[in-house]
Amino acid sequence: MKQVAITGGKGGTGKSTVAILLANKLIKKDKIVLLCDCDVECPNDYLLIGEKLKKPVRKVFAEFPKLNKNKCQKCGLCSKTCQSNAIFQAPGKYPVFIKDLCSACGACWAVCPYSAITPKKEEVGKIYLNKLKATTQSSKLFYLITGVAKPGLEETGPVVIQVKEFALDFARKIKADYLLFDTAAGIHCPVISALLGCDFAYAVTEPTPMGAYDLNLILDLCKKLKIPAKVIINQADLGDKKEIKKIARKHETRIVKEIPYSKEIVDAYSQGRLNKL
Ligand code: SF4
Ligand code: SF4
Repeated sequence: MKQVAITGGKGGTGKSTVAILLANKLIKKDKIVLLCDCDVECPNDYLLIGEKLKKPVRKVFAEFPKLNKNKCQKCGLCSKTCQSNAIFQAPGKYPVFIKDLCSACGACWAVCPYSAITPKKEEVGKIYLNKLKATTQSSKLFYLITGVAKPGLEETGPVVIQVKEFALDFARKIKADYLLFDTAAGIHCPVISALLGCDFAYAVTEPTPMGAYDLNLILDLCKKLKIPAKVIINQADLGDKKEIKKIARKHETRIVKEIPYSKEIVDAYSQGRLNKL
């Protein structure tokens, strides 16, 4: 099974559209495909294929630190260890945990020599599964897994990780040929979590100065993560591709597809039937 990320530094370049079109293409070639929407803060693949999120198939939990002041000796080791700067500790005072910054990594309770920190489980998101007919004529199925983070959750990396684990298990169960991960925009922690473990990535961009700038960032990130990346230019005929080509050359990668502006795609996008193209 190939694991492929559909990513791109910039928002609004058409990552989700490309991810769905790619899934369609592979399904038409008789491949078993599972699309996983890892943009857990605002997933929208289900809307683009005219589906609803009904009952979650799983809840996502993460463990956050809880301090026992009776045991804490104010040694400061936990705050020095936390890589997310989620623990503030003034000299001689108890540590204060800043939940919005906490990635639920567990390092603080692992290092505390006095067992003064215990993990407290909390729900941080939900996972949904949609299974629909790829076309009205055939019996082929379009599988979509959607991760949704709890509203207001700042650190959504743990949700992405668990959604991916669920998707991997499910993909093995249905003997998928391809597992496609539609990532969030940007180059932050949830995007890194979505990219890790992928065989390769498609970086979706548009021929604009912002598209070029963000393409450079995402290709840099893929290089650091050692994930081979290829470039797809969306709405390729609506701008100047010179800068995109220069960045692709700089990163020694190829532009594998140029998608021209298409009224047919825009109509299908706005009517929630991209999977029918
Ligand atoms: S490591 Fe444990 S004992 Fe030390 S300050 Fe943190 S909670 Fe308190
Ligand atoms: S769980 Fe990890 S990120 Fe959260 S406070 Fe502890 S060390 Fe920091």
